[in-house]
Formats: sequence, C-alpha cells, structure tokens
Amino acid sequence: MLAVLLCAARLLLPPDSTVLLIRVLDVSDARIGGDAILITDSSAGGARHVLIDAGEHGPRIAAWLEQLHVDTLAAVILSHAHVDHYGGLGTVFSRVPVRAFVYGGTPRTAVSYRALLSQIGRRHIPVVTADTGVRLLTLVTGADSVELRILAPPRGCGTLPGAAGGDAVNNCSVGVRLARGTFAMLFPGDAEQSELGWWMMTTPALLRADVLKAGHHGSSNATSAELLDVVRPRAVIISANGRQHPFASVLGLLAARGIPTFCTADHGTVTVRVPRGGEWSITTERAGRCHARTAR
Ligand SMILES: [Zn+2]
Repeated sequence: MLAVLLCAARLLLPPDSTVLLIRVLDVSDARIGGDAILITDSSAGGARHVLIDAGEHGPRIAAWLEQLHVDTLAAVILSHAHVDHYGGLGTVFSRVPVRAFVYGGTPRTAVSYRALLSQIGRRHIPVVTADTGVRLLTLVTGADSVELRILAPPRGCGTLPGAAGGDAVNNCSVGVRLARGTFAMLFPGDAEQSELGWWMMTTPALLRADVLKAGHHGSSNATSAELLDVVRPRAVIISANGRQHPFASVLGLLAARGIPTFCTADHGTVTVRVPRGGEWSITTERAGRCHARTAR
C-alpha cells in the first residue's frame, strides 16, 4: 500500500538501522539541471551507498555527500554521456573513494568527458562496461541486500559516432532497476522512445516497478502511455531543471492515471524510504505540486 507523505519535508531523516533510502537530489537549475540519485542501504552496523549520475555542479553534490555522511561509494553508475549527468562526477571522484564505475561505454569526443574517463583511469577505479545484456550488482549491507540490474543500451551504441547528437546519446543510456524485497524502482536515464521500446521488447519484466524516475526529465519523448502500461508505477519522480522540463503532456498523462508525481524543481529533493518488512513511502523537501515548464 502506497503511503505518500507530502511535505514531511526533511532531507535528513531520523537514523534507521534497517532502511533503504533513495534520494532523487534536487539539482534543478535555471541553466541545466540533470539527474543525481543517491541510494543508501543501511543495516545494523553500517551503510552502503551508490550514486547514479551527479548532475553538472560537482561541489553541490559533494556537499550533499558530506552532509549525508557518505564516506565511500560502493559504485557510481553513469546513465549516459551528457554533462547534466556526468558534469559533477569529477569532483565526486576527487572527494570520495569509489569502488566501481559502471557505464555503457558509448564513445564520446567531448573534452570534459574524455577528461573524466582519464581521471577514472588515473585513480585506478575498477570499470564495469555494461554494453550488453543485463548485469547484476548486489549491494550487501549486513543482513540486507539490494539488487541493481543494469540494462545495457542497444548494440549500436558501441559504435556511435563520438560527436553524435543529443537524442542519439540519450538513447544509449544504461537503465537501472533496483529491487529490494517486493519493492522495485526503475531509473531509465534519459532513454527516449526508441531505447525504451527496445527494452520493452527485450526485458519487459525488468521494467515493472513501484516507482519510476521519469526518463529524460519529464519530456514527452520518454514517458508514454505504452511505457506506463508496462511499468505500472504507483508513483513517479521527475528530476527536472524547472526551465523547460517537465512537459505538460507528461504531467497530464500521469494525472489522468492518478499517479502521484513529484518534481525536484517544485518539491526539492524527493526521498523514497523502504523499511525492511514495511511499507515504502515518499517524502519531499518542500510542499508543492509539479508545474509544467513546456506547454506541449
Ligand atoms: Zn539529462
């Protein structure tokens, strides 16, 4: 049973030794925005952290990691090679030990991206290239475990021209499906309809999720009726810059289906809390409701 707690409104929740927290961090910004998602699994005696993307502004992400007492990242997963997702990673790598870097391996010629990969090499961070099939990462924390299934991009992404356009790079996102007990959450990066359609064809069971982090910041090219029919989410979170995202048609589609929707640009950081053996819930940093930034 979904318990949506609007505006419980604290970024730092009370300590809980057996809880999984998924924080969709508010990286909304008038200029760019992006995604940055911190997964923290706690059990008696410790916590493990995984970061999916790091927005564009590294110091902001690093400050959050410090505030949330993240001393080590078990893994950093980069959804795709756009700066609103990888731009903050260089700072993260320089501040926090990272045990593994997971990405899709899609070639890019952007100087800042090449510099990031060089930094990862210099720091000898183990790299997992999720370029085919489905990889399983298991986060073990005491007696608890969380499964992260990495959905590879389509095969053609391995030979994508290094200066390919935005949509082509979006459609080379790695997806992540998190599962803990009966709870599941899906993170499709910025995958648009072509890649989402390919996943719907090849791994439909892995798209089913209680919570969906909307693809491509709430754009209409990433959230469709067909996708919602497959995922069947009971809540949707949109990480958006608040300038051109999210789109009105996406908010309308979700509202028509009665799916509670949370937007970082309006609600601030959105936290999914999954206690062991209990009901999951969503809290937001601020009270509010999602506002469309693009009319179509
Ligand atoms: Zn993006």
